Amino acid sequence: MERKQLKIESRLAQIGSMEEQATGAVNFPIYQATAFRHPKLGQSTGFDYIRTKSPTRQVLEEAAADLESGDAGFACSSGMAALQTVFALFSQGDHLIVSLDLYGGTYRLIEKILTRFGISATYVDTNDMDALEQARGPHTKAVIIETPTNPLMMITDLEAVCSWARHNELTSIVDNTLLTPFFQRPLELGADIVVHSATKYLGGHNDVLAGLIVTKGKELSEEMAFLHNSIGAVLSPSDSYQLMRGMKTLALRMERHEKNAASIAAFLKEHSAVSEVFYPAFSDHPGYEIQIKQASGNTGIFSFKVKDSRYVEPLLRHIKLIAFAESLGGVESLMTYPAVQTHADIPLEIRQAVGVDERLLRISVGIEHADDLIADLDAALNAAVTEVEGEEGGV
Ligand SMILES: *Cc1c(COP(=O)(O)O)cnc(C)c1O
Repeated sequence: MERKQLKIESRLAQIGSMEEQATGAVNFPIYQATAFRHPKLGQSTGFDYIRTKSPTRQVLEEAAADLESGDAGFACSSGMAALQTVFALFSQGDHLIVSLDLYGGTYRLIEKILTRFGISATYVDTNDMDALEQARGPHTKAVIIETPTNPLMMITDLEAVCSWARHNELTSIVDNTLLTPFFQRPLELGADIVVHSATKYLGGHNDVLAGLIVTKGKELSEEMAFLHNSIGAVLSPSDSYQLMRGMKTLALRMERHEKNAASIAAFLKEHSAVSEVFYPAFSDHPGYEIQIKQASGNTGIFSFKVKDSRYVEPLLRHIKLIAFAESLGGVESLMTYPAVQTHADIPLEIRQAVGVDERLLRISVGIEHADDLIADLDAALNAAVTEVEGEEGGV
């Protein structure tokens, strides 16, 4: 049976399991070599020097391209390294249109570094076609989309925006970290490039830092191979192995993340200390219809607002099972306070315009039992309310 004909669950479980011809090892080994011997002058085994190509990384890269329905995959040393490699497509004077509610690190990379090289960006709600058209100028080269966004879970219609981008000869770049190819494949919806922080769901165990790029089209794939090798922010053989190991269970994990997140979002929606829950699987979420159309499931992270910003400090102190920590997408549940952590580099005006305020918390729901997570949250929320009320009583 051809691998391409297999369902995604099977292709995930079997990453690297058929590639090792010499011994038949069911896990592709870690080739811990930086140099590869040439049989003779003018001949190569296909491998020369690790930065250009390395066997373990190659198996991962081929799997990434296959899973995202692309033509070529590139494994990088982090999600930021992947984004920096992609941004190297652009030159002085180029302009980018970028999702308004953007990952803080991507915003920082663009505003603090790319601007020094004469590349500028305009931040818009990428689901507002008029805003996109208004932001487009003669030097605009690309549109960069996150859907759902983090932390506010805004949804962008990928098919609509990618076709608009194609029509205007812009490259469309989608950060697919939150949904992974298990739930959403942007290249099938018209995007040119997909990037991942594989540190999150793909790795899945909060133990490996990695990034992936997948490109569509021969020319773009060749250009990306050139940039990947020239910049050199590539993934090591052992981290490539570790990432593949994580990806084998992606389907199972995403199903559980989705199920748990749905239970917890429903619980929070009813809790008296919570005012809003930003979760795209709720039918009253503004992106609900689009999300159903373009993705086969929902991610495990979402955000919510407590009614009073004073609840935040005691809540983060009282959660026990859920860790107060940055990052997302791992088997362990984590909670973050975006305004002071992941999004601290985004200026206050922009944060406030999108709604990342001092009452907003983000939860990355792990694969623990939902009942335990709900009990932890319930106890911590109630303890926070009691503390704040106690202070008021003391005044
Ligand atoms: C974490 C993250 C990144 C950055 O990835 P690293 O692996 O931490 O470098 C980029 N985009 C999104 C959406 C992320 O969540």
